[in-house]
Amino acid sequence: MIIEPSRNLTCVKTPFYRDDEDEPEPNTSLLWEVERLRLKLDKVKQEKAKLLCNQKTLMLHTQALSALVSELTQKLEAERRDRKQTESTYQFLVTNLLREKADLEIMLDTIVQHSDLMEELLHEQCIRDPLTGLFNRRYLAKSLERELCRAQLTERSLGLIMLDVDHFKGFNDTYGHEAGDVVLRELGWLLKTESGALDIPCRYGGEEFMVILPEASLEKTQQQAEHLRRQVKRLKLTYLSQDLPGVSISVGLAVFPQHGVTGNQLMQAADAALYQGKTQGRDRVVTASG
Ligand code: GH3
Ligand code: MG
Ligand code: MG
Repeated sequence: MIIEPSRNLTCVKTPFYRDDEDEPEPNTSLLWEVERLRLKLDKVKQEKAKLLCNQKTLMLHTQALSALVSELTQKLEAERRDRKQTESTYQFLVTNLLREKADLEIMLDTIVQHSDLMEELLHEQCIRDPLTGLFNRRYLAKSLERELCRAQLTERSLGLIMLDVDHFKGFNDTYGHEAGDVVLRELGWLLKTESGALDIPCRYGGEEFMVILPEASLEKTQQQAEHLRRQVKRLKLTYLSQDLPGVSISVGLAVFPQHGVTGNQLMQAADAALYQGKTQGRDRVVTASG
């Protein structure tokens, strides 16, 4: 860089000469150097001032930026917290919903099972006699029709036994209705346990019972009727820890197709035989005539 001496540069008397001496030649090169250095110093000062100014600006920018960054960080942190809270709320809700769904499924299963059970129970109530647990009169009529149809198709015989407790009214009068119920319950149990696998024992009503014997011949029906009569006589009855006297039954029987081909015919034939048994002295088995 070429440095020009300043215009107002004047000769400066240096202490290197005296007045009496000839005025010395000013040391121009030195002056030039001083001037150059002064100018340089000025420039450096200016640059320093500029740098300081820049530094200040930079610091201000930095402060503003860091404030912005911290504000953003806080916002992000708050948002993250919010999201986390929302997420855990959702998770809680989902867990609860799943639990409730499982509960509902169990309830539904239980309801379905109960309705199945109720249906079964209703069906049982429709076809069973509550005192003895035997099939009732309605079931007897249906079963007799069905088994007669089968007997006709397979050309097999079918036996029908009708039995009635002897002097049951007197029994009730002497020992009480409850004791009479014991007799009917025991009789029902006996018919259930002593009947063959195919046989259908039913309570016809009151102290009258019937047994349908599918595929049974006349002989087999007579044998079974006699067996039941004997077993009834052997029943040991107690009521309220007190022994009750034994009971007897009168039995009438009829067989398909000899004594009838319809349910009604067979029942009438068996009933007539039973009546005969009563008139002949009770406690006996009578086969339908014809
Ligand atoms: P028989 O030898 O001629 O059959 O005489 P019986 O006394 O058995 O016949 P009757 O028809 O005169 O009486 C039947 C009795 O059965 C009358 C009734 O009170 C009784 N009875 C009917 N149903 C029930 C019942 O569910 N429980 C009780 N304890 N008794 C019943
Ligand atoms: Mg009777
Ligand atoms: Mg009777």
